[in-house]
Amino acid sequence: MHFDALIVGAGFAGLYQLHCLRDRLGLTVRVLEAGGDLGGTWYWNRYPGARCDSESHVYRYFFSRELSAEWQSSERYPGASEIRAYLDYVARKLDLRRDIQFGTRVVAASYAEGANRWTIETDSGARMSATWLVTAVGCLSAANVPDIPGLHDFQGKWYHTGQWPRDGVDFSGKRVGQIGTGSTGIQSAPVIAQTAAHLTVFQRTANYSVPARNAPLTAEFNRWVRESFDELREATRSTINGHAFRIAERNVADVSPEEREEIYRAAWAKGGLQFRATFRDVMTNRAANQTMAEFVKARIRDVVSNPEAAADLADIDHPYAAKRPPIDTDYFETFNRPNVSLVNLRKDPIERITADGIRTKTAEHKLDLIVFATGFDALTGPLLRMNIRGRSGRLLREDWKAGPRTYLGLQMPGYPNLFTITGPGSPSVLTNMPVAIEQHVEWITDCIAHMREHGIRTIEASEEATRTWGEHVQECARATLLWDAKHSWYFGANVPGKPQVFMPYSGGLARYRRTCEGVAARDYEGFVLDREGASEFSGAAATALPGV
Ligand code: NAP
Repeated sequence: MHFDALIVGAGFAGLYQLHCLRDRLGLTVRVLEAGGDLGGTWYWNRYPGARCDSESHVYRYFFSRELSAEWQSSERYPGASEIRAYLDYVARKLDLRRDIQFGTRVVAASYAEGANRWTIETDSGARMSATWLVTAVGCLSAANVPDIPGLHDFQGKWYHTGQWPRDGVDFSGKRVGQIGTGSTGIQSAPVIAQTAAHLTVFQRTANYSVPARNAPLTAEFNRWVRESFDELREATRSTINGHAFRIAERNVADVSPEEREEIYRAAWAKGGLQFRATFRDVMTNRAANQTMAEFVKARIRDVVSNPEAAADLADIDHPYAAKRPPIDTDYFETFNRPNVSLVNLRKDPIERITADGIRTKTAEHKLDLIVFATGFDALTGPLLRMNIRGRSGRLLREDWKAGPRTYLGLQMPGYPNLFTITGPGSPSVLTNMPVAIEQHVEWITDCIAHMREHGIRTIEASEEATRTWGEHVQECARATLLWDAKHSWYFGANVPGKPQVFMPYSGGLARYRRTCEGVAARDYEGFVLDREGASEFSGAAATALPGV
């Protein structure tokens, strides 16, 4: 079957892309989704405590006032099931399901030059073709189960948080081991501990966390959200990270230590990701960052009553927010429970998994169940596992051997008419994702509309613009303390053998949006456009990066 466009993935990105291409441009479109239902990331991440760190009033689409107005969020942060319900509501309102094929994993995609077509193959062996291929596969969808010796010997059950069973997991009476203390592990541990007989948390890198202060939303707040649609949309589009809060304009050194402490305490009491927004220089100035880091470490020591556990939890080796900063509900408090223990893998590393638990250098931990909260092969993983082949059979996996190469995180040279929503090299995971997604979907939609209007057969990132953009992505990260945490997944460090390249664009979403708008306005500068077969470089110079 041939379509104008195929979209891979039915999360926030795929759903809106379907709406835009089908209902705005009138294209024939099919969405292919590996999961059994809508949701993308939120379809798979059903682990205990799964909840978004973006607040409900901004973790939503802003393309439709009506869609937003009719949706009532129940809590400050939306839980995974509420997000799935929201996407179901959107799909019903826009009649999207009829063009989505669930339970269908794309296992190969290749471009045929003569026909100017993408052909995809699914896990059931079916083939489909399209003029445009849009990947909406998410940034955090390829689960990373570490290759710890002995996993096959384990007689109990084990689960990765990003592939959680739809029917849930019963922990009652079970001895549970959880490996990983990233944003996921910090959310799941407190909930698992409530019913497990015992929870052992295996921590490799200690992590900061700030209280989320989740709470039910009042009718008055939801009314305010409805009435503030324009302001909220404007705020999410003009801030560095797509949230509605703004980063304070003061530096840490502008205030006295007493005032600074007051500011941190007030932000701690309020909770949430905006803790980091209290000063503007915490991500660029090590001394400034250290004040924030020390404040959080002091709170950990305040909360955790066992001094050894407190020391292990507060022994954090990177600047605050240089790795993705989690927010939590009772994470550190969980270590005061009698049924919870902490193993510091830096002191006592895992040797192997055995038939009945995990053996570390100094102890045997008997377990009935292991939870891998060990993260993802982020950003590149979901794309590479689709076996994408471009012009002349070139393989994306080969082209990205030394790290991802994209222009604006939207396209790659050698892969015409293939668009990646929130791909590596775009702000993506450093932002409130639905806002970044909307920007990409709208840009791609406008681009395809432009192609049709002007008889453009193919669009493809130029080599030169891709190289320049790649350098710019690295430079932006190098200018921040994100560069200091080389062991973060932003660099791909969590997956053995993965090239160490800073993957997301840290120059800010608002600036990135202007860059993309400028590129389009200058006739898709930096892209190669094939106007009815006559290939030409678009715009004045593909080398200069506009507006950055
Ligand atoms: P993650 O941040 O990559 O954390 C994985 C954890 O597993 C880390 O503590 C890591 O230790 C540990 N780990 C990995 N391999 C290990 C091994 N072989 N032995 C021992 N420990 C190992 O993954 P995540 O927590 O799933 O979060 C990923 C991203 O998803 C987040 O950063 C965030 O962007 C997103 N997320 C968002 C939310 C939300 O909005 N609420 C919730 C969850 C996740 P090291 O640090 O030493 O590598």
